[in-house]
Amino acid sequence: MKFVDEYRDREKAEQYARAIRTEATRPWSIMEVCGGQTHTIVKYAIDEILRDKITLLHGPGCPVCVTPLELIDKACEIATRPDVIFCSYGDMLRVPGSHTDLFTVKARGGDVRIVYSPMNALELAKANPTKQVVFFAVGFETTAPANAMAVFQAKQQGISNFSVLVSHVLVPPAIEAVLSAPDNRTQAFLAAGHVCTVMGYEEYRPLSEKYRVPIVVTGFEPLDILQGVLMCVRQLENGRAEVENQYARSVREFGNVPAQDLIGQVFRVIPRKWRGVGEIPQSGFGLAAEFAEYDAELRFGVADLTVEEDRECIAGEVLRGVKKPQECPAFGGRCTPDHPLGATMVSNEGACAAYYQYRRHEAKAAVGSER
Ligand code: SF4
Repeated sequence: MKFVDEYRDREKAEQYARAIRTEATRPWSIMEVCGGQTHTIVKYAIDEILRDKITLLHGPGCPVCVTPLELIDKACEIATRPDVIFCSYGDMLRVPGSHTDLFTVKARGGDVRIVYSPMNALELAKANPTKQVVFFAVGFETTAPANAMAVFQAKQQGISNFSVLVSHVLVPPAIEAVLSAPDNRTQAFLAAGHVCTVMGYEEYRPLSEKYRVPIVVTGFEPLDILQGVLMCVRQLENGRAEVENQYARSVREFGNVPAQDLIGQVFRVIPRKWRGVGEIPQSGFGLAAEFAEYDAELRFGVADLTVEEDRECIAGEVLRGVKKPQECPAFGGRCTPDHPLGATMVSNEGACAAYYQYRRHEAKAAVGSER
């Protein structure tokens, strides 16, 4: 298959792994920001192959995982209203809120529907003028253009029964939060390629310079990850701290400028809470004042709802690369994909889900051997 198989070539992967092991003269810790990259790393055991030289830390780049508890509660609250069709991507349905999840709301009669884009939700609003249609607008910069377009078109077409529950977060402030934490262990970053497809990578340069840290924009296939790690190692070994682009087949320096313009019209940068991490300044998008009428939090009066995080789930430490999923006492026992305590066990991009899918037998074996 063209454009996939060539990025999974075993021989080339071994060449990259050999180069990394040869060129790394000491152990280095590198964080992959994106949960999609985490799944590739765990699925293909890239962390195991490199473990004598490189520690791969899993970062906060899973949008479902970082959506705060209170936004899940707000979603559930809105979705229980009898006149509402609540639209979401499928993996948000099982994310636990403080007392329920969207799947349960649906099972109890709430009109919760899985859609594949915000434009599907907008179409539903047009087809159901007597209902309020709400779209759960979750994601990083990658999904922001499509969400912005849905709101923009709703306004242009005068569709008043459509609104969005916005939970947009931004990558550069999350990287800064990781770097400025007192327990930070990360010495270089693999930045998420799809985010940079939209935003470019200029905005990473100030971070790289301020914290003297290499940042390599990286794709999602095994060879992408291995090449990204090698580029980080070469910078670290040579004392360089620059922004480089491994994912040149998709990413340009300044990104997709028309998409950025649309985002700039519909959204504004605001502080955002990250699940398990807390509030990070200027780390998300909210609707701009001109589009406030499409804000579901305001429309349904749930803006002031706040709740405490679950203390048993250590997803915050997992998302900052401080701990691995198997270090969580609940992993694979009290917390499984069928009975998740945290979003990182539910999401397709969640680190706990990746370890559960590919490594849980090793975790059980390790526990057994300690007895
Ligand atoms: S295993 Fe479950 S409880 Fe532990 S950090 Fe992951 S999601 Fe949270």
